[in-house]
Amino acid sequence: MKLKAPPVWYGAVYYPEHWPENRWATDAKMMRAAGFNVVRLGEFAWCRMEPAENKFTFDWLKRNIDILAREGISVLLGTPTAGPPAWLVNAKSPEQDCRMLYEDGTRWEFGGRSLCCVNHPRFIERSRRIAHALGKHFAKNPAVMGVQIDNELGMYGTRCYCAHCVVKFREWLRKKYGTINVLNERLGMIFGGGEFRDFNDVPLPRVRQDLHNPGLLLDSQRFYSDANVAFVRMQAEALRQAGVWQPITTNVCHMFSGWTGIDGRALFADLDVAGWDCYPQQFAADPAPATMGLLHNIARAYKEKKYWMLEQQSGSPFGMAADDVRRIRLWAWQAIAHGAEMILYFRWRTCRFGGEQYWRGILDHDAKPNDRYRMIARISEEINRVKSHLVGTAGPRRAAILLDFDNCESLTLSAAYGAPRVSYRELAEQYYEALRRRGIPADVVFSVPDPGRYDLLVAPLFRIINETEAASLRAFVAKGGTLVAAVCTATFSRDHVAVADPVPWLLADVFGVERIEWSALGKLAVPPKERLGEDSVAWKKLGSADTIPVIGKGKTLAGTFTARAWCDHLQVTTAKVLARFAQGTPPGPAPAITVDSFGKGRAIYVAAVMEQDLLNRLIAMLVEPDIGWPVSDSAQVEIVPQQNGAGRLCFILNHGADAVSVRVPKKAVDLLSGHSVRKAIKLDPYDMVILSWRIQ
Ligand SMILES: [Zn+2]
Repeated sequence: MKLKAPPVWYGAVYYPEHWPENRWATDAKMMRAAGFNVVRLGEFAWCRMEPAENKFTFDWLKRNIDILAREGISVLLGTPTAGPPAWLVNAKSPEQDCRMLYEDGTRWEFGGRSLCCVNHPRFIERSRRIAHALGKHFAKNPAVMGVQIDNELGMYGTRCYCAHCVVKFREWLRKKYGTINVLNERLGMIFGGGEFRDFNDVPLPRVRQDLHNPGLLLDSQRFYSDANVAFVRMQAEALRQAGVWQPITTNVCHMFSGWTGIDGRALFADLDVAGWDCYPQQFAADPAPATMGLLHNIARAYKEKKYWMLEQQSGSPFGMAADDVRRIRLWAWQAIAHGAEMILYFRWRTCRFGGEQYWRGILDHDAKPNDRYRMIARISEEINRVKSHLVGTAGPRRAAILLDFDNCESLTLSAAYGAPRVSYRELAEQYYEALRRRGIPADVVFSVPDPGRYDLLVAPLFRIINETEAASLRAFVAKGGTLVAAVCTATFSRDHVAVADPVPWLLADVFGVERIEWSALGKLAVPPKERLGEDSVAWKKLGSADTIPVIGKGKTLAGTFTARAWCDHLQVTTAKVLARFAQGTPPGPAPAITVDSFGKGRAIYVAAVMEQDLLNRLIAMLVEPDIGWPVSDSAQVEIVPQQNGAGRLCFILNHGADAVSVRVPKKAVDLLSGHSVRKAIKLDPYDMVILSWRIQ
C-alpha cells in the first residue's frame, strides 16, 4: 500500500480519552472547520488500551477514529509506552519493578510518565506486546496514516541505575573492549587506582560523583543511547510484524540539550521519518530566530530529508503570559520553511485536570472558538493556497555546522573537570546566527562532509576526534573548503583521552597553529538539572574572569570585542592573525582568531567563545551572500531560501515586535496575497511572506 500524503499534514495532538464521548463529533467537526487533515492519538492511553494484563480494549479508540475519518481527518497513532499503566508499574515483586532507579537512589512513584527502564525485561516485553496489539488492530484501518513510537524519550533523563542496566552496561563494555585490560588501558583507569579486575567490577558511573573517568562516563551515555534506540527499534519491528505498513516515527525533544542523551541520528536510522517537538517559549519569552532555526535543521539532518513537527506550540506553556497569536502563525511557517511536512499543535484543548492544566491548547477549557483557533484555521487556508509550491523544495546549501553526539554529551558529563563552560547548543547557535545574517541558513551534519559538498564548514567544540575524521577535515580544506574550528579543537581521542601530540591533533599544519596553553573562564552554563545535580562541583564558580577583551584587526574585524568561557592559547606557525586577546589579561597578546591557507582551501581557528558581533563580522569576511536572494542584516528577520524544479521560494519571517522592510533583488510574487513585489517588502510585527520566482 502507498500513502497518499498531502504536501503538509496539519492538525493537533488529541486526547479523546480526556473528554466525554458525546463531545467527540463536535471536536471532529471543529477540527475539520479549522482545516485539519490529521490528529495524533493514543500515546498515553495504555491504561485504556490494556486495562489489565493481556486484556486489550481498542473499541473506544476505533469509535473515535471512525468519527474523525468521517470528517476527513487521518490519524497518527501513538504507541502508549510513555504512559505505563498501574498494573505494570505497581509491581507484585521487586524483580518486576521496572521503574527507573535514579542516581540519587530514588524511583518515581506511579503517576508521572516515562518512568520505566528501557532495559527492564518486563517493560520491554509488555511494550512489545502493546505495540504489536495496537498495530494488529489498526494497520489495515485506512484512516491511520502513521505510527509514533513512545513520546519524548529521554525527556526525564536516560540514566537508570537498576540491576538490569548495570548488567547490560557490562555486556555492552565486554562487546566493545573484549577484555578488561583493554578497557583499563584505553580509558586510563589507572588514574586514582581505578583499574578493574573484570567486567563485574565496573559500575554504572554516577555523574555527580567527583572525578569519575570521563571516558567511562561517555561510554555509559553511549550505552543509554543505544538502549533507547534498541527500545524504539523493538517496537518498530513489532509494529511491522503486526502488518503496519505506514510510516513510523518518534518525537524527540532535542531542544533541551544536544540530544537529551540519545543520539538522534541512530534513533531515526531505522524509522521512516524524523520528528521533534518545538516549544519556542521554553527558551525565552522572545526566542531568537536562530534558536529554532538551528533545531529545525538538526531535525532535517537526522535523515537528510523533510521531517514532521509532532508537537508545535499552540499557546504559551506553563506559567507564561498569553502570547500574541501572530507568533503561532510565525512559528508554524518557520517550521514549514525549514522542511516540516507535518504540523501538529500541542494540544487540541487545554486539559481540565492533571499536571498540564495551565498548558495552553488551541481551545481553552471551555472549548469556545478563540483567537488561537481562528489563527490556526487561517494558517490552514494559507497552506492550502501555496501547497503546490512546497512540494520537493530544498534549500541552496552552502554552509554546514558539524555536530557530534560524543562531543555534546561529554561536555555535560565531564563539565566539572574544567571543560569549556559553554552550552554546546549555544555555541553552535552563535555560528548558525552569523551565517543566517549572511543569508545562509546552515545545514547540520553529523559527520565530516565530502569535499565540495559545502563551501564552508563550522566545527564548534570538536574536541573529541579520531584519525579518520581528522583526515576528512584535511581533505575538506585541501580541496577548497573553508573550515572554521571553534574552541578546544581536536584535543581528545574518542576514548576521551588527551592526545600526546601537538593540538589541534593531526590538524596543526592545516590551521598553522599549535595550542600551548588554555584557560577556562567564568561560571559554567547551567546544565539540565536531571543530568547534573546542583550539588556538583560543576556549579561552583572557579574564580577566573568572566570575559576578556579581544582586539580585531583589518577592515572587517577592527574593534574591541569580548571573549568568554574558554581561551585556547595559540602559537602561530604559518597562520595569519586576525584578532588577538588584549594585552595585560590572561592569556596576554596571544592570537584569538587565525587563518591559514592549506591546499586549495583555508582554515580558521577561533580560540575562544566570542561575542556575536565579532562572529558576524568574521563570517561576513569569509562568505559572500547569494546573489539574487533577499538579504537582511536585521537580527529579527529570518530569510529561508528554498527551490524546486518549478522555481525559487523565499520565506521571510519577522520575529520582532517592530515592522521591518526587506530589500528584494528582483521582482517577485507574494504567494499568499498574489501581489507583485518590487525592490522591497514591508513586514508587520510577527508577519511573514513567501516570495516566489517561477522558472520561465
Ligand atoms: Zn534500568
